[in-house]
Amino acid sequence: MAQNHYAVLGVSQNASPEEIKKAYRRLAREHHPDTNQRGGSSGDRFKEVTHAYEVLSDPAKRHRYDTFGDERAADGGFGDFGGLSDLFSSFFGGAGQGGAARGTGRGADLLAEVELTLEEASMGVEREVSISTLDGCTECGGSGSAPGTWPSPCSECEGTGQVQQVRRTIFGNVMTASTCRRCRGAGEVILDPCPRCAGKGRVAIDQSLTVSVPPGVEDGAQLRVSGRGEAGMRGGRKGDLYVAIRIAPHEIFRRAGEDLGCEVPIPMTVAALGGTVDIPTLDGHESVEVAPGTQSGEVVRLAAKGMPRLGGRARGELVAWLRVVTPTGLDDEQSELLGRFARLRDEPAGGRGLFGKIKEVFH
Ligand SMILES: [Zn+2]
Ligand SMILES: [Zn+2]
Repeated sequence: MAQNHYAVLGVSQNASPEEIKKAYRRLAREHHPDTNQRGGSSGDRFKEVTHAYEVLSDPAKRHRYDTFGDERAADGGFGDFGGLSDLFSSFFGGAGQGGAARGTGRGADLLAEVELTLEEASMGVEREVSISTLDGCTECGGSGSAPGTWPSPCSECEGTGQVQQVRRTIFGNVMTASTCRRCRGAGEVILDPCPRCAGKGRVAIDQSLTVSVPPGVEDGAQLRVSGRGEAGMRGGRKGDLYVAIRIAPHEIFRRAGEDLGCEVPIPMTVAALGGTVDIPTLDGHESVEVAPGTQSGEVVRLAAKGMPRLGGRARGELVAWLRVVTPTGLDDEQSELLGRFARLRDEPAGGRGLFGKIKEVFH
């Protein structure tokens, strides 16, 4: 099994990624079980070529292989074909020449995204979502075979989807079973592909559906809409649709779970004398009384004015930070009044006044 990957692909050790890809394309076509009907050894050869390409096309794996003579130094085992499935579909796309039937399987999940305002997230909302997907072909009922025709049992595996091999070892003969490479385990091949879906059993459509977003949903949450993903292969179960929720930043409120926070500026005079302050809420505002001598940074808490708890009736609280605003742009009369006020309070404006007083306090 320790074949030199470069030799397998017939390229030199300093071949460029392009040369490697080209060599792989040629050999894969030549040895692919779908196009090569000689059977037997071609499957092994294809596996070898694919494995060599898998290693040499991945810069990290190629480096490891060049250095240690084994790409498995850090990860990956033999036969991990995951990353190559896209490549297969571009090389062998379409079942034009009576290609092998695909294995039955659940359809892929889809992901859509909707953006909500904080108010919408608080109330709950219905949103229309449009997304491209794959639907079962109505012409062939998802089978991939032209109407009136049926898939034929795979000759390679006699319809079992599995090939058995007997290996001679020093311990005797060992029987191993592996997935049939011609039909990829389906046990049958489509000889007469459906013209509408080209034998795939699925067609691309744009679907739109209305999604109910529940009150209290969080930014980054994903709603699962069961059975609205892609149709499965050959009549397989549909995948799910996930709707990712984005909540746009709010100009007043910040959110922490069920609670909302905001900053509320109040005039210096109201802070000093006490009075009524309007606190904004998601659905209007609420008037609250603040005591004389209120300081910047004091908080007002409004119970049940936060966000609703997802799936419940309770709501979080709204926390308002009061910020005392120092008056600016004073006219002569206002300056005069504040000056008098300062003298009465023994807080002489300018110079070392207040600072001197603080020193006094500490001594
Ligand atoms: Zn069809
Ligand atoms: Zn087969």
